[in-house]
Amino acid sequence: MLKPNENYAKLQDSYLFYHIAQKTKAYLDAHPEQRLLRLGIGDVSQPLCPAVIDALHAAVDDQASAATFHGYLPECGAPFFREAAAKHYAARGVELSPDEVFASYGASDELGDILDLFDRGSTALILEPAYPAYVDANVMAGHPIVHLPAGKENGFLPLPNAGTKADLIYLCSPNNPTGAVFSKEQLQQWVDFANQMGAVILFDAAYEAYIEDDALPHSIFELRGARTCAIEINSLSKTAGFTGTRLGYTVIPKELERGGMNLNAMWVRNRTTKTNGVSYLLQKGGAAVFTDEGQAQIKAQIALYKRNATTLTKALDDCGIRYCGGKNAPYIWLQCPKGLSSWEFFDLLLTKAQIVGTPGAGFGACGEGYFRFSCFGSPADTAEAAKRLRELLK
Ligand code: PLP
Repeated sequence: MLKPNENYAKLQDSYLFYHIAQKTKAYLDAHPEQRLLRLGIGDVSQPLCPAVIDALHAAVDDQASAATFHGYLPECGAPFFREAAAKHYAARGVELSPDEVFASYGASDELGDILDLFDRGSTALILEPAYPAYVDANVMAGHPIVHLPAGKENGFLPLPNAGTKADLIYLCSPNNPTGAVFSKEQLQQWVDFANQMGAVILFDAAYEAYIEDDALPHSIFELRGARTCAIEINSLSKTAGFTGTRLGYTVIPKELERGGMNLNAMWVRNRTTKTNGVSYLLQKGGAAVFTDEGQAQIKAQIALYKRNATTLTKALDDCGIRYCGGKNAPYIWLQCPKGLSSWEFFDLLLTKAQIVGTPGAGFGACGEGYFRFSCFGSPADTAEAAKRLRELLK
């Protein structure tokens, strides 16, 4: 008889955001008159920028005529998109060959799919609090998982030590949920460690565009030695509002080898087997993000989300609540007041202020007692949430 992948039975019964959605729905069903303010899931509120919209329209028109129509594109990405992304890295001093950049339908897809490259016995080291998909994708793949907890004592940026063991290392900087960002010196320690151990770093750079402090690294490839130990997974979701449009890119350097096998070549083999590429329309829209016009427009949008962060942090300051994040990241990570657990604080905010946030416990055990606010809402909703927070907690 067929045996299913029994690793699925080891998954926690409810994915964090699904559980939040269920609780929220139950509350709204009972109180349909209430206006909920959603600062929970990290979904954007602002539309795609004009440069992207124009490129998408033009790409649709291309598909309407035999002379400009595109059928299947290269599975690893259209040359124009790979070149545009590589050029974007070059502007920050990171030299990549376009065939080290792979187009994807987003970071979530890649974070799971990339595990195809590694042996099932590979141990995954997950720095927590962490984006929940890291744990779940590794549970599904049957990988042993080591949790490395972080806390305020290390600024939510844990570093390797003599006892650290790992084959795969998940680093997310700027971090979801804490907003913490590794400095170059800190990230260098992880790169050196991975090279010494023969491990591979999976660097999730989904929030790199939110870094405003010039000294902080946007890409792991700004670090010495990263080309022999790291894969970078990136996304236009939060950079340019592609959460519903879907486009990302993954960088695998050609020097990256393990066990005599080349990971870039393996990923080419994987993509040419398991996908028929990313839509022409989306890659055209995505390439527009990397133009000067696109960059100026997305920077204005990111500035709007940063103003939301300030609106919220001012309210938290007024209420005497301690927090971090919100400066180089679109998330604010706060300590629940009055010793409440993170799900107790979730219930309090939902029922007394009709605000939906994300309980820190959903990002790993060390997130208990913390809570995450997303700054991706509309400015009007964020201002209203700040007002309700003051009324409830001051
Ligand atoms: N990585 C992190 C840290 C995220 O927070 C998210 C989405 O919230 C993703 C990856 C997934 O991004 P995408 O929309 O590209 O799948």
